[in-house]
Amino acid sequence: MPGMAGGADKPERPGAEQWLPEPGHRDVATLREAATGCRGCELWEPATQVVFSAGATGGRLALVGEQPGDQEDRRGVPFVGPAGRLLQAAVEEAGIAREDVYVTNAVKHFRFTQQAPGNRRIHATPEAAHVTACRPWLAAELAAVDPEVVVVLGATAGRALLGPSFRVTKERGHVIERETSRGTKRFVATLHPSAVLRTPPEQRDAARDGLVADLRVAAAALGPR
Ligand code: SF4
Repeated sequence: MPGMAGGADKPERPGAEQWLPEPGHRDVATLREAATGCRGCELWEPATQVVFSAGATGGRLALVGEQPGDQEDRRGVPFVGPAGRLLQAAVEEAGIAREDVYVTNAVKHFRFTQQAPGNRRIHATPEAAHVTACRPWLAAELAAVDPEVVVVLGATAGRALLGPSFRVTKERGHVIERETSRGTKRFVATLHPSAVLRTPPEQRDAARDGLVADLRVAAAALGPR
């Protein structure tokens, strides 16, 4: 596709595994530092920087989105754009304490197309191959944080964490239990906040209410402090 980031026809995607620190040295700070050198797929090259994660590295609840957006790519921090602000307000409204929350994405570099006029950078959904290439970072950080509940924000995160047949519209809003390297984990799926922002204005309040309701399910799935 003309203008596609890393636009080679068959880009090399060795996957992130070889850039991970040795097992036993995979705390979030070490992972974050190591990810700056990742060349596991072609998305690193046109992006400004890797965008790893933010929030509580011992958080009881992890929020997993798709990929950084334009503002996140420029600032190096996830969920700082309009979708991030909507998400933060929804998390608060659902009664989830900020100190309980770790936020990250399934893919750590911004995938975009560049379009005239003004060379605007337009979000492009990561392919399944990008999600697969980047999955070692997501698996390692979730193993390090070991949250009680993982909130899956949208289809890309859902397919990364719950498999290729995941459909957010079918599986949102209830607790899904899965075996992981850290034992049985609880997942709750919901819309990505960007999808709420793309909803037609007359339906946007209902979409936002749905996001908050799903986050309340996740809050209720947390055990007592
Ligand atoms: S998107 Fe993920 S796998 Fe690809 S270069 Fe970035 S960190 Fe590595």
